[in-house]
Amino acid sequence: MSARSAIEWTDKTWSPVIGCTKVSPGCDGCYAIRTANVRTQHPNPKVAAAFAGTVHRTEHGLDWTGQVNLLAERLTEPLHWRTPLKVFVNSQSDLFHDQVPDEFIARVFAVMALTPRHTYQVLTKRHGRMRTLLNSPHFRALCETAEADLVADETTPGLSRYEREQYQTRWWSSFTEPLANLWLGVSVEDQKTADLRIPALLETRAAVRWISAEPLIGPIDLFGPLHPLGGRRKLTYWLTGRPGFGEPVKTATGLEMRPFVIGPRLDWVVAGGESGPGARPVHPDWLRTLRDQCAHTRVPFQFKQWGRWSPDAPLDREGRVVRGARGLGVTLANDGTVYAPGDLAYPDGPRYSEAIRAGHAKASLTQVYSRRKEAAGRELDGRTHDEYPAPRPAWSWAEVVR
Ligand code: SF4
Repeated sequence: MSARSAIEWTDKTWSPVIGCTKVSPGCDGCYAIRTANVRTQHPNPKVAAAFAGTVHRTEHGLDWTGQVNLLAERLTEPLHWRTPLKVFVNSQSDLFHDQVPDEFIARVFAVMALTPRHTYQVLTKRHGRMRTLLNSPHFRALCETAEADLVADETTPGLSRYEREQYQTRWWSSFTEPLANLWLGVSVEDQKTADLRIPALLETRAAVRWISAEPLIGPIDLFGPLHPLGGRRKLTYWLTGRPGFGEPVKTATGLEMRPFVIGPRLDWVVAGGESGPGARPVHPDWLRTLRDQCAHTRVPFQFKQWGRWSPDAPLDREGRVVRGARGLGVTLANDGTVYAPGDLAYPDGPRYSEAIRAGHAKASLTQVYSRRKEAAGRELDGRTHDEYPAPRPAWSWAEVVR
């Protein structure tokens, strides 16, 4: 089933796979589990069957069962959409889940190649499989076969005779380079997951690379984490591309030279807080760091939402802070420690000295308020951030020095 999407950065969702397994703390509040649970009871038996068996109730609440449903009948849906769209692939699963066979992923890629009018947004937390698969000649061969099969099959819906002839007479070579209409991304929720997944993304062949830092549950420094004693232990080139020398080339005079090249970098950063029951608060400084680092390196930045927690206190019609607003709030330290109301009664409440001993400078503590997602909005320091990546020529990783 595809749907117009309420997600700010996409037009439509396309979900040929349903079901998943949690892999990291960012999955704890997975909205797809709640959606799947509701849809298993959908009055339309086709919809209910698509979600059947994917969720169950445990002693800790709803969770995935680990069953993944492959919906082959949904694969050709984008062929019918004639208007160019931004399409979020697999909003109800992870395309690189280990239960999804290589051949099925190849069929998804074949459909993306056959519809260059659309821009596809793939987001994964399975960075290892993504890197291995997308860099392998075996996978490219699978994609080419899947694409040829789709074109040759007279029953493939959504392909006109003209399009079929075009594809058959002009051999499609999308898979010799990364798909130009695919924005490949990883979800990162804190520095640990950023350190794992972003390098893997940069080592994967892709035309556009992006990260979704949502739900942001801890600080992320895209320039490389700061050392407590000052400086950066490890400087990264995630936002600028690592400079280096490419493969040797022979000049007309027979000289062998290595051209100077800039390696892959992130082309887009999306960030946001968590929403839904049990949502964890986001510190405004975490978002400011991402925004400022992107601005500094001219990487497009989008702030999607505050989610359940916002630094703006709820106001009444007269513009006054509603009574009891502090009771709706928590004090959040810059490292993610949450102090419940009363824990830190400034300036010298019962746990204030404890917070200072733990190294939380006063400036790093902030008050955030529980709000409805719509009321919390998506303004950061008085403005929205709605930037998108400009497609760039595909990188050939083989030409870049790591
Ligand atoms: S990877 Fe995505 S879909 Fe899967 S459990 Fe985590 S948040 Fe949910």
